[in-house]
Amino acid sequence: MVSCMQCKVYVPVSRAVKKTFGGNTLHFCSEDCARQFLKRIGH
Ligand SMILES: [Zn+2]
Repeated sequence: MVSCMQCKVYVPVSRAVKKTFGGNTLHFCSEDCARQFLKRIGH
């Protein structure tokens, strides 16, 4: 299980949305959370 970077919910790695940012792999519960997170950090 990994924690969503945006809403902190736990999701199985196999179902997590993965985004590579600054050389790190970030995990999210959904594309929506990924979008919100990237928007929040200025992308
Ligand atoms: Zn989320």
